Amino acid sequence: MGFRFETLCQHLADENRMENHYGAISFPIYQTATFAHPAVGESTGYDYSRLQNPTREHLEKVVASLEKGIDALGFSSGMAAIATLMELFRPGDHLIIDSDLYGGSIRLFQEISEKNGISFTRVDCYRENVENYLTEKTRAVFIETPTNPMMNVTDIGKLAGITRKHNLLLVVDNTFLSPYFQNPLELGADLVVHSGTKYLGGHNDAIAGFLVTKSEEISEKLRFILKTTGSGLAPFDSWLILRGIKTLSVRMERAQENAMKLAGWLEEQPFVKKVIYPGLSSHPGYEIMKKQSRGFGAMITFEVKSKEMALSILKRVKMISFAESLGGTETLITYPITQTHADVPAKVLAQNGITDCILRVSVGIENIEDIIEDLKQASGT
Ligand SMILES: *Cc1c(COP(=O)(O)O)cnc(C)c1O
Repeated sequence: MGFRFETLCQHLADENRMENHYGAISFPIYQTATFAHPAVGESTGYDYSRLQNPTREHLEKVVASLEKGIDALGFSSGMAAIATLMELFRPGDHLIIDSDLYGGSIRLFQEISEKNGISFTRVDCYRENVENYLTEKTRAVFIETPTNPMMNVTDIGKLAGITRKHNLLLVVDNTFLSPYFQNPLELGADLVVHSGTKYLGGHNDAIAGFLVTKSEEISEKLRFILKTTGSGLAPFDSWLILRGIKTLSVRMERAQENAMKLAGWLEEQPFVKKVIYPGLSSHPGYEIMKKQSRGFGAMITFEVKSKEMALSILKRVKMISFAESLGGTETLITYPITQTHADVPAKVLAQNGITDCILRVSVGIENIEDIIEDLKQASGT
């Protein structure tokens, strides 16, 4: 029986909790490093927790089911997941990466992967044709949609048509929408990346990452790299993410409802120059989002009139915290130019439009009136 999304957040179809876990409703935390063998050449199914642990395995099955993949691998962070993904490539390989990406991904590609002989071309996958940048050595295309922080939207299905034709892997970082709103594998992507720290965990209390695939071959390669390099998610953190996922659908709905209202309010404020939210019909990616996603998420980027106004808002917010990260129940505001994108070269920042007047809000699930009142007083209006 195939469960629907909200049910899958609570139950796997093949769970047998009566036999396996004394009927425990909350999946147990197997806080053990190693497992005893019944005899030589025999295993309980688990040998050593770097390879696999029941709590992590359960979480991985849940995430795979939500993203419609055949396998998901749980990592100690989103960056550990992306670093493991990069081990699929070898010196000489070339990747196309979207021009606007999470700052940590840009840093990994430029400072670590390039040193290892992998080269990159940055392409605005929304406005430009990726086909013009392919070389004999191109192996993959890596995108986010919407992007962090500029909210550029790429047509995943269209891009998948190109990557399939040229036998390339299409990797989509789906952190911003979560599987509740978008399933890139169903649209033709080969791999999905998540920072589980964000919406999946949802409570700003754990760091985690995932890779999800629909290919047996890729899954086998990634499992080998994970067990060899050892960046798997620990049992307790796996449990925290499992617990977060239980409320994923209700959190996403409320956060999006708040984001819609906040975006509308921001648009009317004299201190705001521009609101970038894909749920606004004025956003260039609005129609693509309506086609490929079930929602617009709860991330809003906005431009204020001056750097002084941006700094003043960051200083004066009270209920909202000035903090990096996103996707939790609490509303956070950040300043991409000095925070999430601090290590991104100035030229790239300028190209992407990340100026000192740009602020990014991760809208939480508080009462929307309190969110608006706080921004109102912080802006001095
Ligand atoms: C946060 C984030 C990451 C990195 O994840 P960590 O869990 O912080 O390592 C990757 N991609 C996106 C889009 C993110 O927001």
